[in-house]
Amino acid sequence: MAGAHDCGEPAQPPLSVEAALDLLLAEARPVAGTAQVSLTDSLGRVLAAPVVSPIDQPAWDNSAMDGYALRAADAGTGVLPVSQRIPAGSSAEPLAPGTAARIFTGAPVPAGADTVVVQEACEVLDDARVQLPAEIQPGRNIRRRGEQLRAGEVILTAGQRLGPQHLAVAASVGAAALTVHRRLRVAIFASGDELVEPGAPLGPGQIYNSNRTLFQALLAGLGCEVLDLGIVADTRDATKAALADGAAHADLVLASGGVSVGEEDHVRPAVAELGRLDLWSVAMRPGRPLAFGHIADTPFIGSPGNPVSLFVTFCLFARPFIQRMQGMDPLPAPKRIRAAAGFDWPKPDKRREYQRARLRADTAGDPLVEVFASRSSADLTSLTWADGLVELVEHQAFRAGEPVSFIPFTELLP
Ligand code: AMP
Ligand code: MG
Repeated sequence: MAGAHDCGEPAQPPLSVEAALDLLLAEARPVAGTAQVSLTDSLGRVLAAPVVSPIDQPAWDNSAMDGYALRAADAGTGVLPVSQRIPAGSSAEPLAPGTAARIFTGAPVPAGADTVVVQEACEVLDDARVQLPAEIQPGRNIRRRGEQLRAGEVILTAGQRLGPQHLAVAASVGAAALTVHRRLRVAIFASGDELVEPGAPLGPGQIYNSNRTLFQALLAGLGCEVLDLGIVADTRDATKAALADGAAHADLVLASGGVSVGEEDHVRPAVAELGRLDLWSVAMRPGRPLAFGHIADTPFIGSPGNPVSLFVTFCLFARPFIQRMQGMDPLPAPKRIRAAAGFDWPKPDKRREYQRARLRADTAGDPLVEVFASRSSADLTSLTWADGLVELVEHQAFRAGEPVSFIPFTELLP
């Protein structure tokens, strides 16, 4: 539907989802600038420099159990005097020959001992001696120096997003701060004369702006700083002003609404006037009109106004683009679960379709993909009903029971 507002763009055939993503990612540059931040402030940030362990882990042989440390060769007598007590956090004397040491989990194994026998298998006799079990397995219950990792080993590579487990591993080798990419600053706005912020009464023809909240929450999940430019009127000038403001003050500009080619859609021509518009049609549903461009060096992604379209295009395109700008490398591809379709799909489209779906168990307990009754991309309740998206490949019909690809929301959020 070419119109007066397509700015002379050549009519291009729609791009496949993969082709569009490849084009997008080819344009994504990690932001320059890193910061040294404390471990607690590193949660959710992207590591910019590898972390190398300065120590062996464990740093010395230590006991994996509460029990008795001894030389296995001394155990033949069945009873040994207890010559020392080694709680965690203390240092051990070398083990006197023919004796055992009372030892606790995490305490250093005394020189000369080669085995720890767990306390449950032992009996303490009155005169500070210990009765050992009949069978002793030499070498048991000792965590050896360096068995987890060696000094000089890389424990965290640059480009990964830091979760609790990454922070804990850094702490375990004594790192107190990490070098991370600086936070990405993302400007957002919502185009539409019909929009009102929640909290205000609705006038005739008005709807609440749900995309602002959606953007903010999606971006917060990705650890971005958000510059909220609010609601933008459906005029070329207002759109250009918002784009210019966002481009000047943020690393990336995201907009919702106004990206079609209708008379009230000003985003694409405004981007084209201010900078460069690269890509504008993806063979997918929901979310066909996706605008991508640059204003000076600042990239811009414009999504359709329908909230479900915005959600889907954000998850599939904006999210990996942002992850790359944040310095993530490699990018984690959302994992698909192959599961039986709980519905027929006799008339596939030439566009790839992402429907809101959830996994439930069939009568045999096997996973079955159920789809939301409505395909309307205006219906936000479809997203709270669902726990993922089912990916319906273009041109492929199938029947109930055949496998389809289900992408859990946990793979897309954040
Ligand atoms: P548009 O992409 O501007 O043509 O908008 C498509 C549909 O999405 C229209 O029904 C709009 O009213 C609706 N819409 C646009 N922006 C928003 C928004 N920020 N929040 C909720 N719905 C929106
Ligand atoms: Mg609109």
